Amino acid sequence: MAGPVKSVALLGATGSIGRSTLDVIARHPARFRVGALSAHSRVDELLALCARFRPDAAVATDPAAWPALRDGLRELGLPTRALAGPEGLDEVAADPGNDIVVAAIVGAAGVASTLAAARAGKRLLLANKESVVLAGGLLVQAVRTGGATLLPVDSEHNAIYQCLPADGGRQGVRRLLLTASGGPFRGRRREQLATVTPDEACAHPNWSMGRKISVDSATLMNKGLEVIEARHLFDLPPEAIEVVVHPQSIIHSLVDYVDGSVLAQLGNPDMRTALAYGLAWPERIDSGVAPLDLAALARFDFERPDLEAFPCLRLAYQALAAGHGATAVLNAANEVAVSAFLQGRLAFLGIPDLIQASLDALPGGPSDSLDDLLALDAQARRVAESLIGRTGG
Ligand code: NAD
Ligand code: MG
Repeated sequence: MAGPVKSVALLGATGSIGRSTLDVIARHPARFRVGALSAHSRVDELLALCARFRPDAAVATDPAAWPALRDGLRELGLPTRALAGPEGLDEVAADPGNDIVVAAIVGAAGVASTLAAARAGKRLLLANKESVVLAGGLLVQAVRTGGATLLPVDSEHNAIYQCLPADGGRQGVRRLLLTASGGPFRGRRREQLATVTPDEACAHPNWSMGRKISVDSATLMNKGLEVIEARHLFDLPPEAIEVVVHPQSIIHSLVDYVDGSVLAQLGNPDMRTALAYGLAWPERIDSGVAPLDLAALARFDFERPDLEAFPCLRLAYQALAAGHGATAVLNAANEVAVSAFLQGRLAFLGIPDLIQASLDALPGGPSDSLDDLLALDAQARRVAESLIGRTGG
């Protein structure tokens, strides 16, 4: 049994990854306790989690939600401190009382707290891929200088992490093979995607996830963001990162070695495996995920991604090759496009069109510091917003 109880700060506690994290933590009260929880604006859910897990601090990142959090904690008679806004997130991410930070916020809104945890030398369980796409270089640097341990939670990156050489090097690695489910529209041609709805896009065949990443999976931008994430986390060139569609979502990714060996990590599609791996690393603990029944699955299929119907994956490779902040523009334009699609202001095929038009209008910009990147992110959001209605929407 491993040492003292570890305290976990869970940023984005009310989301899909947040819920899965708490499910694993609750199975191991002798190993983990909850030090801090955050939610953006769903205060009632956050209060219910506080009553159950009794954290030291709770953060409402939407400052307008803070008074309700403070009053609710008082009514519950909890000693939990009520913090507000992005400053509250940074505070709990760097708090010496927390050993582990789970970065489970959706979107670039998670970047500052992810960097704060890295600088503070935490064990960082990274789900928030947009922060890597926006600021991967800064994050890798902050992990190094802060002495943090970054454990990828995104299932593909978690799989690759498990399959890379145990010494942390890259000796003999030829390629990374990221698997993609293909999403709910796999096999459709471009013209068959014109009228798909948000609910259809969010009905993922294998994974249950938040709405933003579900739409990203349907456009294949999720895989594009993951290629960029892999580029930063594993320090291999884009040409050594390939995508293969594997509709069953059982092989989570693979590492191809120069001697012809290909190592894969398999499991049922349930994020609790990657979260349990990160929480207990280098030990292994029960995650609640059912054992794999290979005979019941019967078969694995593979195919190449269709870049004609799903151009977002191509756009991500292009932005990666372009450099100079292009991936920050790609990410911001995608966040705007997905949000407009979910609100019924943009058609599904308008998503790649809007991202392409945004990259044409703003190919990049200064990207050396977090301030540079946040300015570029804000500028790209304005550009994308202004282009809605003028692209294939
Ligand atoms: P979700 O929408 O279910 O939850 C998002 C969480 O972020 C919520 O707790 C919400 O309160 C918080 N949040 C939203 N906007 C915020 C803001 N502006 N500031 C601060 N907090 C905010 O999302 P999810 O599916 O849990 O995904 C979270 C992250 O993990 C994403 O980056 C996603 O790409 C990544 N991820 C998710 C899965 C999955 O299975 N869900 C798998 C791999 C990676
Ligand atoms: Mg993934």
